[in-house]
Amino acid sequence: MDYSWALDFLKTLEKASITTELKKKELVTLLAADPNDSKLLFNLADRVRAQYMSNAVHLRGIIEISNYCRQNCHYCGLRCDNKKLGRYRLSYEEIYKTAEEAVNIGYKTLVLQAGEDNHYSPLEIALLIKAIKKLDVAITLSLGEHDYETYGLWREAGADRYLLKHETADPVLYQKIRPGKTLEERLKCQTWLKELGYQLGSGCMVGLPGQTLDTLAQDLLLLKKMAVEMAGIGPFIPHPDTPLAASKGGSLEMTLKMVALARIIMPLVHLPSTTALGTIHPQGRELALQGGANVVMPNVSPSQYRELYQIYPNKICVKDEPEHCKSCITGKILALGRTIGTDYGHSPKLQGGY
Ligand code: SAH
Ligand code: SF4
Repeated sequence: MDYSWALDFLKTLEKASITTELKKKELVTLLAADPNDSKLLFNLADRVRAQYMSNAVHLRGIIEISNYCRQNCHYCGLRCDNKKLGRYRLSYEEIYKTAEEAVNIGYKTLVLQAGEDNHYSPLEIALLIKAIKKLDVAITLSLGEHDYETYGLWREAGADRYLLKHETADPVLYQKIRPGKTLEERLKCQTWLKELGYQLGSGCMVGLPGQTLDTLAQDLLLLKKMAVEMAGIGPFIPHPDTPLAASKGGSLEMTLKMVALARIIMPLVHLPSTTALGTIHPQGRELALQGGANVVMPNVSPSQYRELYQIYPNKICVKDEPEHCKSCITGKILALGRTIGTDYGHSPKLQGGY
């Protein structure tokens, strides 16, 4: 029997336990671990998380403000060519009221997410940010690509963080699945966001067609290079009304390995255990929390719109009221022996020490 591969894995794992500087080849070796060996990786990531990020899990309430989108991403159900989807957008008052309710049930961070919807003017969003900030809450925006001035306006209005995933570090694959867009432009936006003082959230999907272990290793290295404060790594889930409908999608195992490696090479980064992971496996979110993750983003959108925010199909919790979601996820987190974060959950990198 040939043990050279196993030896290589163990040697690389040992290196990962003493340094955050892993090379692409080493990341590939760890990503190739079989299910028995990957447990060692998850345990290491859990230890790193406990050492650097405490036991607290931060809850971020996500408000999906509109499902209109001018983009046509091949992977996403909100793409403008999907004519089957009923569209909605929340009014200023509805967004504010939803935010108020979320703050009243204890959220300290709200994420405003949408397709790239031209309906809202930059100023309108800025006024909304100003109003919501008065509720004493941190704000993350996830509204796609905009110009420097718009990002600047929103930052000045009080937005703390911006979530704009790079999606895939392979520039050729990127252009294929985001028609008319380039990875370079995406990274330019991320650089602006950093310059403007946002805490930057990036991330990628796992299981895109054509993706290899090499690409996934590049995704991790790109996150590190961009010095992100948050990395959202979730499985790609094929949507039936998109060009990628027939794809296989991402696996639980590979997504967990990616989350674990993100924790190992970036100990102070916030790592959400994604709803997409909970969608492909009933224990997906718990497993990620036990393998490096420290953030959960429950949905606080008004229930009548939730089913329409169909980035991918069969999303969990779409029928649950915000209060129910919060107590349900809180129960799951406490059952893992973890606590719920009580502060804004800003990046620990802001306190120095990276
Ligand atoms: N329009 C904004 C924000 C909404 S999309 C943007 O694109 O940045 C939010 C995230 O959903 C994307 O970053 C992408 O990573 C994820 N997503 C889209 N379609 C998906 C799918 N089919 N499976 C899993 N994640 C998906
Ligand atoms: Fe629009 Fe974002 Fe979906 Fe792309 S991923 S179609 S930008 S909502």
